[in-house]
Amino acid sequence: MTMGKVGLYWFGNDLRLHDNASLLKAALEVDELLCIYCLDPQWLMPNRYGLATMSHHRWRFIKESLIDLDKQLHKLGQHLIVCYQSPVKAIYDIASSYQVSYLYRSRQTGYYENQQWLSLQKQLPLVQFIETDTHTLFALDQLPFPLAKLPDTFTQFKNAVEQCTIAKPRSPVGFLPSSPAMKTDWLNRFPDYSKSEHEIFFYGGEIAGLTQLKNYLASENASHYKKQRNELDGWQNSSKLSPWLANGNLSVRQICFNLNHYEQQTGANESTYWLFFELLWREYFQWYAHHHGKHLFRFKGIKQQKPLTSFYPERFQKWCNGNTPYPLVNACMKQLNATGFMSNRGRQIVASCLVNELTVDWRYGAAYFEQQLLDYDVASNWGNWQYLAGVGADPRGKRHFDLNKQTQQYDLDGLFINKWQGGIQNLPLDSVDVADWPAVAE
Ligand SMILES: Cc1cc2nc3c(=O)[nH]c(=O)nc-3n(C[C@H](O)[C@H](O)[C@H](O)COP(=O)(O)OP(=O)(O)OC[C@H]3O[C@@H](n4cnc5c(N)ncnc54)[C@H](O)[C@@H]3O)c2cc1C
Repeated sequence: MTMGKVGLYWFGNDLRLHDNASLLKAALEVDELLCIYCLDPQWLMPNRYGLATMSHHRWRFIKESLIDLDKQLHKLGQHLIVCYQSPVKAIYDIASSYQVSYLYRSRQTGYYENQQWLSLQKQLPLVQFIETDTHTLFALDQLPFPLAKLPDTFTQFKNAVEQCTIAKPRSPVGFLPSSPAMKTDWLNRFPDYSKSEHEIFFYGGEIAGLTQLKNYLASENASHYKKQRNELDGWQNSSKLSPWLANGNLSVRQICFNLNHYEQQTGANESTYWLFFELLWREYFQWYAHHHGKHLFRFKGIKQQKPLTSFYPERFQKWCNGNTPYPLVNACMKQLNATGFMSNRGRQIVASCLVNELTVDWRYGAAYFEQQLLDYDVASNWGNWQYLAGVGADPRGKRHFDLNKQTQQYDLDGLFINKWQGGIQNLPLDSVDVADWPAVAE
């Protein structure tokens, strides 16, 4: 029987103790706290695109992140409870069993995650629901416009928010109330997808994320970022912070704070500004996803007209496997499949190819990225895909990259294509001539 106020902290994409205003709030307000993470069995099932939701890369990264979080909680006399159940059911059951009166989480961007929150609010009318912004630079009430008036384009958004003050990152959580629940051996049941033939550069967890931030800013790469960021390969050419940011192992405010410090020490230039500028793109997509809800996943996006593409299973399969007539695209896809990562330039090239050369429905590409990307983030992924497919926030319509030009510009000597075995040019796209199919009976 518990006596004081019992709180439940629902971890999502905020798997960290530093700059976690939401967890700090919970720590201060309740007498006992349950720290929960839900592993939804749906992630193990094929989704509406016929794809498993998560590749082994993503499973591995999340597992490492959870182990790291559990260790950090342990230092504060707490532990993580991982539920292998749909979040609504798991949270409802635990909240009922432990007489939880306060439910906390970081604000989520995804439409379905927000539906779950609403559903729980209906089922648990006596519980107080408290959400705090930890995934973005600004809190909802800091935005200089109501969300319903989110600017239509990134440039308008940037101009509106650029002068707003970014809050200083909060100190790491240093104290937590104890848990009323026993520790369980959740790791035993975790899907085991840990094997990788390739060297692992991205290791999940807050400690690894903070280390990457420190290392990146200890070099001078941030001062050359604008020129380097378009390269297809090379660890130093961009910050590589995205997997930790997406899973909330790293706080975006912490990155800005450290970048500011770097600028004070080393000097600000166009490149250091450009890194911040990219974080503003991320910020835009976060609020864009909040604002547009389920339209983020619609074929016609936020536009009125459907694109002139369709679903060609064979072409899609070839694109996924890196087996198209376009060696540069193949190399990028093979890099993604092997490592769970692809450069920003590579992502633009393969997305443009899927939509323009292969004329495949963009949502299949987005779903495949969702499965493979270590840095999968619902807002950044679906927002960027909409943008490239011409159904999103791009005032200029869809983007079509000239694959020959891109190859000349970014892989002139063919090193990248060779490394990832992109293959030879001009393989046939379809194994059956579409015009002759189905064959007419003789
Ligand atoms: C089709 C497509 C899908 C994408 N899907 C995702 C995704 O699921 N998750 C994700 O984090 N990024 C996504 N991006 C954006 C971008 O490609 C990655 O953030 C970036 O390549 C990550 O590498 P980095 O951390 O070294 O980035 P850096 O170049 O060092 O940038 C620093 C940070 O800025 C943010 N950022 C940079 N570019 C963008 C952008 N175009 N949109 C939003 N944020 C950006 C990221 O958080 C990134 O970590 C996608 C881009 C495209 C074109």
